[in-house]
Amino acid sequence: MRQEGHPGREAVQGLAVLGATGSIGISTLKVAELHPGRFRVVALSAYERAEELRALCRTWRPALAAIHAPETAHWLAQSLADTGTEVLAGPTALERIVCDPRVTTVVCGIVGAAGLKSAWAAVAAGKRVLFANKEPLVMSGHLLMALARQSGAQLLPLDSEHNAVFQCLPQPRAGLAGAGVRRIVLTCSGGPFRNTPASEFATITPEQACAHPRWSMGRKISVDSATLMNKGLELIEACRLFEAAPAQIDVVIHPQSIIHSLVEYVDGSTLAQLGNPDMRTPIAHALAFPDRIEAGVTRLDLAAVGRLDFEVPDEDRFPCLRLARAAAVAGASAPTVLNAANEIAVEAFLARALPFAAIPQVIESVLEARPVVPAESIEAILEEDRMARECAHRVIGGHRAKGVVAC
Ligand code: NAD
Ligand code: MG
Repeated sequence: MRQEGHPGREAVQGLAVLGATGSIGISTLKVAELHPGRFRVVALSAYERAEELRALCRTWRPALAAIHAPETAHWLAQSLADTGTEVLAGPTALERIVCDPRVTTVVCGIVGAAGLKSAWAAVAAGKRVLFANKEPLVMSGHLLMALARQSGAQLLPLDSEHNAVFQCLPQPRAGLAGAGVRRIVLTCSGGPFRNTPASEFATITPEQACAHPRWSMGRKISVDSATLMNKGLELIEACRLFEAAPAQIDVVIHPQSIIHSLVEYVDGSTLAQLGNPDMRTPIAHALAFPDRIEAGVTRLDLAAVGRLDFEVPDEDRFPCLRLARAAAVAGASAPTVLNAANEIAVEAFLARALPFAAIPQVIESVLEARPVVPAESIEAILEEDRMARECAHRVIGGHRAKGVVAC
């Protein structure tokens, strides 16, 4: 994570917000709104929900907007004809946006592997790249870090745990060992089913899984938080971003979500970052780094919080954490397979085509079926992603054929 030669105190940052209609995108725009002299919104993108994107474009007047389907883009272009916003569509629209010279900072707020190509293009173009979209880091973080070293891109973590770790590490630094780090501890709220017996998992509905007790997020990450796969993906994300071995990362359940993660040093010191659970804090930190800016969040009142609790995660009830750690240890293509199988299983659960309890079973079956192969190019990773998705669909088909009923 380099910091020389990037927009800092004086320059107005030109923002491209990818996934602008999502939870991260909206939080980013709320922070930007507080600092009109510091950030200029150059580009906004969304997959669908064109009316929402149109409303954002009317407010922010970006030079560029992108939406997935060409026919929707046509409608959007007509309805923004008086604003000067150029509307793009199709597979290369996001790559064009991130390479635009007016864009200095790219906020990766797309969900899933779908964000990989645009994240890759932003890093290759040497931009300041703020990563919320963890799935591309899980799949190809080792390559993205190497690419950033070549291009001079600055990678900054938006995920609250990784942003917390970043804040607890010296900047710049030469590796974890050079900084005297013994281990990284990621905190985890435990999700909505922290105290639910495994016997009740079979009847969990998408509505229950998406009702997170602490964070308001998109549906996919909400389900990941409920299975603890989110923490599993974050474990791999931390290995990638901080160039750590899986054995250097621990997870602790912390239901209040006030401590966002910790770094333990060899002298016995442990540094933590605290704050109310609100993504605007890590977003403001990464947007302004190395400065600090107002985020618009409620201030932390520890006396009102009263107590902070910690417990060991239960990997019997939440096997996704164990599967993710195993994939991190296996390395190469295993994290891509884990991620792809999880995306397909979560999609099926949200479509009521797979029971909640079967999500880890599908992922485990796909991991067993796919051999671990090298992942040293983006093409190899994308091919493995495709094969793992096909495999996951077959496994889910097998579940349904056996008559396993979803809620
Ligand atoms: P969300 O579902 O609320 O929003 C996703 C955004 O991505 C939307 O704007 C959508 O239009 C766009 N999108 C979806 N599919 C796309 C595709 N195929 N191509 C292009 N754009 C697409 O999701 P979110 O909760 O904002 O999460 C976004 C990412 O940030 C995820 O990777 C998530 O794990 C990560 N993250 C989210 C939070 C949070 O609090 N929401 C916290 C940490 C990390
Ligand atoms: Mg997180």
